Amino acid sequence: MGFKARARKNRQESGEEDEQSTSGQKEGEIPCGVSSCDDFADKHFGGRSLSVDNATEMWGEGSFEERKGRVRVCKSCYRKWKKESKEDDMY
Ligand SMILES: [Zn+2]
Repeated sequence: MGFKARARKNRQESGEEDEQSTSGQKEGEIPCGVSSCDDFADKHFGGRSLSVDNATEMWGEGSFEERKGRVRVCKSCYRKWKKESKEDDMY
C-alpha cells in the first residue's frame, strides 16, 4: 500500500537564453580574411580588400581566405600590409 512519491517539483530546465542582446556593441558581418585575425572587415569598420597577390606576399599562401580573387581584411590588417609595402608608396 505504498503511495507514490509525489511528483517532484518541475525541474525548471533553463531554456535557451536569448543571445540577441544587440545593445550598443557593433557586430561585423564580414570576418577578416586573415586566418589569424578575429576582426571584421566590414566597410564601416574600415575594412579593405587586397588582391590575392598582395595578401600572399604579406601573410603567405593559405593563411587567408580569398573571395572572388580579393581578400577582405580588417582595418588593422590593412594597415599592417600598408606598412609592409610602404616602399612603393608615394610621398
Ligand atoms: Zn584582420
